[in-house]
Amino acid sequence: MVNVYDNYIKILERVSKFYSNSNSLKPKPEIIAVSKTFGEESILPLLEKGIKVFGENKVQEAEEKWSKLKERFEKIELHLIGPLQSNKVKSALKIFDCIQTIDREKLVKKINNLIENDEFIYKKKIKYFIQVNTGNESQKSGVLLNEAKEFINWCVNDSKLLISGLMCIPPLDQDPEKHFKIISQLSNDLNIQHKSMGMTNDYEKALKYNATYIRVGSAIFGPRGVKSF
Ligand SMILES: *Cc1c(COP(=O)(O)O)cnc(C)c1O
Repeated sequence: MVNVYDNYIKILERVSKFYSNSNSLKPKPEIIAVSKTFGEESILPLLEKGIKVFGENKVQEAEEKWSKLKERFEKIELHLIGPLQSNKVKSALKIFDCIQTIDREKLVKKINNLIENDEFIYKKKIKYFIQVNTGNESQKSGVLLNEAKEFINWCVNDSKLLISGLMCIPPLDQDPEKHFKIISQLSNDLNIQHKSMGMTNDYEKALKYNATYIRVGSAIFGPRGVKSF
């Protein structure tokens, strides 16, 4: 049996150790426990210990899994880390507290419209991160690197979305550090607070570039099979 809480604590300890070694005064990053494909029985041991920050990559899966859990456990912060289709926007804004995958004008306009016209969504104060396709990969979502600054500035200045972070998923076949560096630089240049980067295999590298959220799935929950979701 995988002990998810022990696994979580191991990661927390590695993160703490990195910070004690680096003498950094910066706040430690938050660990997002990525629970995609795992059911309630895997998540409950974390919730019962007071862990609050989770990530899912699909809107429907999140609704099915988290609607009841969020009523039972207070102050859960649920992050959408997978692509958001325009027709799922409203459901996504109901269940998620942070949308990390903002990457196109159409999506921003649709959300903006809901912030202006839907009182529940207006009051919820959802955080939005922009996903940057740092590797300019055609199959990957995220705003292309050479369009990123313009798009981010447009979102910050001309929409009602509270843009508080940048997110990236480096290409599988490259050294992720180059990509973490790009996000770090962009967030400095544009004065954006959060950097969501680093997964099970590379979160320690992301710490070097001051990630403020690391997204860890399999190191906590175990390998993902091809499961029901
Ligand atoms: C699945 C997923 C993760 C977690 O991946 P692991 O390698 O299992 O830690 C992180 N970020 C995104 C966007 C994901 O889809």
